[in-house]
Amino acid sequence: MRFGPASDGVIAGWARELGLPGLVDIHVHFLPQRVMRKVWAYFDEAERHYGVSWPVWYRHTEQRRLAMLRQFGVERFAPLVYPHKPGMARWLNEWVRQFAEEVPDAVPTATLYPEPDVSGYVEEAVRAGARCVKVHVQVGAFDPRDPVLDPAWGMLADAGVPVVVHCGHGPLRGEYTGVDVFAEVLAKHPRLTAVLAHAGMPEFDRALALLERYPRVYLDTTMVGTPFSERLMKLPADWAARLADVPHRVALGTDFPNIPYPYATQLRAIAQWADADERLGEPFLRAVLYETPKALLNGARGR
Ligand SMILES: [Zn+2]
Repeated sequence: MRFGPASDGVIAGWARELGLPGLVDIHVHFLPQRVMRKVWAYFDEAERHYGVSWPVWYRHTEQRRLAMLRQFGVERFAPLVYPHKPGMARWLNEWVRQFAEEVPDAVPTATLYPEPDVSGYVEEAVRAGARCVKVHVQVGAFDPRDPVLDPAWGMLADAGVPVVVHCGHGPLRGEYTGVDVFAEVLAKHPRLTAVLAHAGMPEFDRALALLERYPRVYLDTTMVGTPFSERLMKLPADWAARLADVPHRVALGTDFPNIPYPYATQLRAIAQWADADERLGEPFLRAVLYETPKALLNGARGR
């Protein structure tokens, strides 16, 4: 069972055999339909953007995508939204708040962008129950160190709301990407609960160094170690051994539905790490696939 599910159809049973009631996925995307269509159109041009084709595997209606997550046994997930320009985050936050109200397995989330009203709408989102905030430095093309964001980082740190931050250079560099840039935000807000999306890909070493320095920093597994990513940005050979130092600081993330392979592929990658170091094994799988992401999404104080 440690080798992972052979196909999507056997994921739920695999999780049960591990003794889990299901999976918790901290990195899933749901967006207003016209925004999602734009995202898919972007992936259709992936060859131009990334130099590789990126056929979105789950290009289905919202209802069908939700039904699939349930079939996989995903008990809870964070539907992440992110803006690519100013004036968009507040609207996305409102959209995702309603989405989470209608979809019981989705936790309320929010996003942010450096703009004058950012503290106001982040505070509103946290008050309204947001349990996870997505920050996309490359798509947003902004500097996470922008002083206008300081009150928002402070508020999120105080509230214990995890921030899933795509700050790495992968798959595309941006003006402000790089784990070291985000490290400056952490230096200023060391109590921030930060989940480094894609484990900081491709700067895995730097991401792990931040985990050592800051007890509230985590990694998400999104796309990490899948054959698709391994071709572009290879994991260090001692990855599993490195994870054995921080087994409770890794959370399942997948980027469903915008991945160029089946959901089970991600789970097999994680299962391979579990199998590669005897200190990991099934307890590691239970932590990554369920306990850690669940604790993160439940972690906001007073909830
Ligand atoms: Zn993502």
